[in-house]
Amino acid sequence: MKSKPKIAFFSLTSCSGCQVEALNLGEEFLNILKYIKVENFPLIKERKKIKKYDIVFIEGSPITKENIKELKEIRKKTKFLIALGTCACFGCVPKMKNYKDKDEIIKNVYQFTKKIDNFEIKPLKDYVPVDFELPGCPIDKSEFYWAVCQLLAGKIPKISQRPVCYECQLEENECLLQKGKICLGPLILGGCGAVCLKSNLQCDGCRGFLENPKTENYIKILEKHEINKKDFEESLEIFGLK
Ligand code: SF4
Ligand code: SF4
Ligand code: SF4
Repeated sequence: MKSKPKIAFFSLTSCSGCQVEALNLGEEFLNILKYIKVENFPLIKERKKIKKYDIVFIEGSPITKENIKELKEIRKKTKFLIALGTCACFGCVPKMKNYKDKDEIIKNVYQFTKKIDNFEIKPLKDYVPVDFELPGCPIDKSEFYWAVCQLLAGKIPKISQRPVCYECQLEENECLLQKGKICLGPLILGGCGAVCLKSNLQCDGCRGFLENPKTENYIKILEKHEINKKDFEESLEIFGLK
């Protein structure tokens, strides 16, 4: 009998929210387990020794020397390496540090700072080749399930290049941008079901930019509504898009 693909999850510096969201699949997660062998899952059981894997999902940012070493070692032993969540894909909330004086910030947190790594926040792909990025803060569990199925079928998933506005308008939400509020939806990769807009909250861009965002058109809309460009730039800092 053909052996099951070996899958592992690793968590670099993160809040573990993307792992939690994968577990939130509940019964569907248990269904996946019939077809795979889970070698490592930090929230359930963590094995320190890195082995050979077919597919690895890595959550979080490489923020310390240890994180970077672990990431490179995992890459060497993995067929498909997936960046799981926005921290891993492009930096997310921790990347705010890059926009400030990080040496000043660290003094507000730690008394003794000399031995603490204080690297710039960078995505996984700046350190190792990444086969697929599944963005979101946290990831969308249904999209994770779809991606796992694609990978198990031997395909690299491809997320449709549709903006958040596409799903937002299917839901017939009132457009916040047209009301003069900053909403990044037209620039951002959809797939989250426009979940924030359902609660009348603007899209802050947690899934990252589309491949070709129409930024010039977007800025024209901001100008039409006399929205301050500085406020727009600050909103790009939230999830590391600036
Ligand atoms: S992407 Fe968001 S939910 Fe996932 S680990 Fe990073 S901060 Fe947590
Ligand atoms: S509210 Fe935001 S996401 Fe929805 S259509 Fe308007 S700009 Fe797009
Ligand atoms: S609406 Fe925007 S901020 Fe909210 S989950 Fe979707 S991409 Fe992320």
